[in-house]
Amino acid sequence: MLRSAEIIAVGSELLTPHRTDTDSLFLTSRLNDAGIVVRRKVVVGDSREDLADAVASALSRADLVITTGGLGPTDDDLTREAVAGVLGLELDEDPSIVASIAARFARRGSVMPEINRRQALVPRGATVLANPAGTAPGLLIEAGDRMVVLFPGPPRELSAMFDAHFAPRLAALAGSRRLQRRVIKIIGRAESEVDAVASPIYTPFASGPLPVETTILASAGQIELHLSAAGDDDAAVAARLEAGVAALAEALAPFVFSTDDRSLEAVVGGLLAARGWRVALAESCTGGRLAGRLTDVPGSSAWVVGGVVAYANEVKIAELGVPAATIDAMGAVSEPVARAMAEGVRDRLGANVGIGITGIAGPDGGTVEKPVGTVVIAVAATETLVRTFRFSGDRELVRRHSTSTALDMLRRLLLDLPPR
Ligand code: ATP
Ligand code: MG
Repeated sequence: MLRSAEIIAVGSELLTPHRTDTDSLFLTSRLNDAGIVVRRKVVVGDSREDLADAVASALSRADLVITTGGLGPTDDDLTREAVAGVLGLELDEDPSIVASIAARFARRGSVMPEINRRQALVPRGATVLANPAGTAPGLLIEAGDRMVVLFPGPPRELSAMFDAHFAPRLAALAGSRRLQRRVIKIIGRAESEVDAVASPIYTPFASGPLPVETTILASAGQIELHLSAAGDDDAAVAARLEAGVAALAEALAPFVFSTDDRSLEAVVGGLLAARGWRVALAESCTGGRLAGRLTDVPGSSAWVVGGVVAYANEVKIAELGVPAATIDAMGAVSEPVARAMAEGVRDRLGANVGIGITGIAGPDGGTVEKPVGTVVIAVAATETLVRTFRFSGDRELVRRHSTSTALDMLRRLLLDLPPR
């Protein structure tokens, strides 16, 4: 039975700053679902020696070794040869693979180059995994009680091949133990504050017959609690996780925006739709990012009217009706201006609720009274709520905090929760 895995991502480009190994994230997620733990992963360049070394070393520890990449037709694609070398297997050309690669070229009106024959080399005894999305087939090699599987590098090819040809085998080989995961998403509390409330609740769940592992993850303006548990009985695992999620969600209540994997913008969209409300956006320092996030959600035309990127003061005045005198007296980053932006865009675009954001994202433009990270957000429905925040981080992070906080202010309004 397969219990542990190691992943080897092959490709010199993955050792440069220009490409990231995302294949191993996909593989880890699928393997975890099947109850298999990933113990180690490495990235190696297109060097036969390094590759052979990584494969031999992984095989000395793990039941399942998976490689991605290096199955192409060119000289730097060495995975097949290196793995066959480590396992002492001959490579034979498989005529049916040659035929299918040639047919793929023929469908596009061209002739298969001779070098593509390399992709038809199969270590003796290996099982061929067809590639629904490309030319290079994958290979599955059983070596005693261990298994080595070679996948192509392009993420689309990897995922199609994995799901079509490897997942069914994996389900049989991994036994009946499967992992399930739940995510609680939180906004408006720092990581340490969340952990102080959550840890007395999740700690008891970590023991017992179905232990739940909880990890806390912080990312720009959002905290996530990841709960996972594994077992043979799917319903029992699901119930155990649900009990943990329910207890944590209750303790952290007004700050929890989702327990079903939905994003903040999707949750807010759902709340707007439920009320039959439409929102309009007036954005200065976020440059349209709030409109971008809200319209990332499919179906958002039902609840987003539109927005104005009011970067220059002339636009705030002409398009949103912000009084020039207010800008002169209070500055563009001020509560009266944010209020006028939100109310102006609501009225001019005929929405139920308007949001105005004005701030200093940096790195320049800060002053002593209004340092970089000062952001004023207004939400105008029947009444207008205005808040001034001091966000930390670089320009990108300040903008992210701004859009998340604006969405959270709207979420709280729509749920009749106390404002933040
Ligand atoms: P091909 O037949 O396309 O050459 P291959 O199996 O040889 O397939 P590679 O040449 O190693 O695959 O990679 C092709 C492309 O796939 C890379 O340029 C890269 O963009 C992407 N890729 C490879 N490995 C990974 C990885 N681990 N994570 C994300 N993308 C990857
Ligand atoms: Mg290649």
